[in-house]
Amino acid sequence: MTQVMIVTGASRGIGAATARLAGERGYAVCVNYVRNQEAADTIVSDINGQGGRAIAVPADVASEAEVARLFETVDKELGPLTALVNNAGILEPQSRVEQVTAERLNRIFATNITGSFLCAREAVRRMSTKHDGKGGGIVNLSSIAARLGGPNEYVDYAASKGAIDSFTIGLAKEVADEGIRVNAVRPGLIYTDIHSSGGDPGRVDRLKNAIPMKRGGDPVEVANAILWLLSGDSSYTTATLLDVSGGR
Ligand code: NAP
Repeated sequence: MTQVMIVTGASRGIGAATARLAGERGYAVCVNYVRNQEAADTIVSDINGQGGRAIAVPADVASEAEVARLFETVDKELGPLTALVNNAGILEPQSRVEQVTAERLNRIFATNITGSFLCAREAVRRMSTKHDGKGGGIVNLSSIAARLGGPNEYVDYAASKGAIDSFTIGLAKEVADEGIRVNAVRPGLIYTDIHSSGGDPGRVDRLKNAIPMKRGGDPVEVANAILWLLSGDSSYTTATLLDVSGGR
């Protein structure tokens, strides 16, 4: 049976590295993105050019209608889903809690929390043996910010990742005897564009001396952990939060 994976937010960063690695490992991959079609198309053509199978599908994970369309497109074009990587995530310019607005909180929570719930809901409806599915795996992208708290930078983002940790544990227990394993990876400081979104493009290099390994991470080092959690090699691992953070 072909393994079919959706990676949300796969046009750039950790999601792109995960989609590429999944393509190399024989998954048919849906590269979801929200805006950056050119970047998504590049990932797709690289995977297809190496003999893999990939499609790009735009959808805002915070939109229930767009998430429904994303999963229906994959049903039609790639076949039964076996793996979901809830990777799409955002942060906003660094701010203290006393400056946050409801609009900012709602944007962050809608993408990071609601988006992950909606995509997981669609995946469970397809993969659960309770719904005549054949099982599968879900990996959620949390962050070590969930335990560090993100003071003076983005407590809102950190709190959204705290929610992802609870969500991972709860959902994992809900579907553990329905053939679905649910885990999270919690990256530390990884070289991607997300730090520019926070207004601090040099953040990884600025903070890397606080990391016990004294370096930032490469997106593929996170992708390797994600692929392991979705593979048979982790068959007894569920409800786990795996830090990929150089010891931080
Ligand atoms: P990134 O480089 O900023 O890329 C974000 C990706 O998410 C892009 O592909 C973007 O698509 C997509 N995206 C944003 N909003 C979306 C939405 N509403 N619907 C669908 N796709 C959306 O991010 P990253 O650093 O790779 O982060 C990936 C995940 O890892 C996030 O959940 C992040 O919180 C987590 N993480 C990252 C780090 C780090 O140091 N990088 C550390 C801990 C956790 P477009 O290209 O179309 O905009």
